[in-house]
Amino acid sequence: MIDTKRPLVLAIAGSDSSGGAGVQIDTKTAYSLGAEVATVITALTAQNPEQLRSVELVSEQMIEAQFRAVADWCEVSAVKIGMVATPECVKLIARLIREYKLRNVVVDPVLAATSGGELARSGVAAAIIEHLVPLATVLTPNQDEAEVLCGLSKAEIASAESAQACWQSFEAIGLQALLLKGGHAGAWQAKGEIVDMLYERGSSSVQEFRAPRLRVPEINTHGTGCTLSTAVASHLALGYSLPQATGRAIDYVQSLLRESCSETE
Ligand code: PLP
Repeated sequence: MIDTKRPLVLAIAGSDSSGGAGVQIDTKTAYSLGAEVATVITALTAQNPEQLRSVELVSEQMIEAQFRAVADWCEVSAVKIGMVATPECVKLIARLIREYKLRNVVVDPVLAATSGGELARSGVAAAIIEHLVPLATVLTPNQDEAEVLCGLSKAEIASAESAQACWQSFEAIGLQALLLKGGHAGAWQAKGEIVDMLYERGSSSVQEFRAPRLRVPEINTHGTGCTLSTAVASHLALGYSLPQATGRAIDYVQSLLRESCSETE
């Protein structure tokens, strides 16, 4: 049953057979935050939190058909883009978002599974930069993804100044806002804390969101990136500003993590 009174989030992502990431977690997240969800499935993955076993891509025709079936039928209040495995599909999705003039576009540049397997073919990072960065309301990479997208080395990115340099390189190519997710971060983070950083075009200072780094079993961290990005999209769909949506999304992920553990580092 569809609740038409709720704003609709369109989740464009891969299916994760374990249910911990991808469209499964996007659906769970958006609905539990008060939004309705529709999906464009870009790939099927056979995986569990320990191992990515197999990936089968959905054809471009089928991706386009799913997109049009939703966008022709109802108003989309926000879009969350996760796993898109080929540069051609990235370009297609960008074209459709422009054609339908969709707003509140949260781009999570998924390149690899947390367990290590590749989720994107070569050329996807470059296609995200060329086609999705200019239309994103916010781009939400973790540190590993930011490294690939900015072309900075691990050594270069291991400081707060490099986070700023990373933002400046995106700002120069037209990005509106960058949420650097701290969950995977190493050296640029204070010990025992996760710091997520929000940069917005036109705002002179970075907004830092600090939360305790919880001692969470690894199985419970699979999919946290997807959850955070979809929670931001859901709050944008509900009418919150980007900083408010970010703060609420981080609180939501923290509350889920807190449920799965009892003590902090
Ligand atoms: N999308 C899909 C379909 C996935 O399978 C994964 C990870 O396995 C992700 C996205 C990214 O997951 P995370 O939120 O852990 O970065």
